[in-house]
Amino acid sequence: MRLLIVEDEKRLATALAAGLTAEGFAVDVVHDGLEGLHRAAEGAYDLLVLDIMLPGMNGYRVCAALRAAGHETPILMLTAKDGEYDEAEGLDTGADDYLTKPFSYVVLVARIRALLRRRGGGSGSPVVTVGALRMDTAARRVHLGEVEITLTAKEFAVLEQLALRAGQVVSKADVLEHVWDFAYDGDPNIVEVYVSALRRKLGAAAIRTVRGAGYRLEAL
Ligand code: CA
Repeated sequence: MRLLIVEDEKRLATALAAGLTAEGFAVDVVHDGLEGLHRAAEGAYDLLVLDIMLPGMNGYRVCAALRAAGHETPILMLTAKDGEYDEAEGLDTGADDYLTKPFSYVVLVARIRALLRRRGGGSGSPVVTVGALRMDTAARRVHLGEVEITLTAKEFAVLEQLALRAGQVVSKADVLEHVWDFAYDGDPNIVEVYVSALRRKLGAAAIRTVRGAGYRLEAL
């Protein structure tokens, strides 16, 4: 899952990015509203964390512009503590949720996961099941039948991308886009390294390579 943080308080933005990266998200950070709008409009983000008071363009306008252009990416707005900014206005412009500063990091992560689950749609269940494979995306646990499989945060994130589209071909570029941030300019074949690790843990038959196209998670 790939997140964009638009926040001009650099220390806060850096701390959030570090924490969310450790949770297994790919995180990009920009410090300016206009740049945030451009990134959000172009990138394949699963969620935006958007401050309101920003240089370039304020968060309300960024949010409204994205919605007007048809972007449905979930948006979590960060509002100022002093109540100078109106939470209702944030929701009116199309934000999905808001948090008032200062906020607890644990609450932020819970809200982000809740928004991502809601966007996942339907049942709102955090559990993705593919054959005998069961991924609890809220608890970050994976079971194959009765056996719990221990995955690193990145392995989990790669498997999640494949599991969300089980039975379909997912390209290496798709996986890269959702699991690695834009600062990653290394070899796209990094995806193969993680797929190999997943095959060792889940069994070689779990992930098929579709030549020239990508990978397909098979029901086990
Ligand atoms: Ca700000």
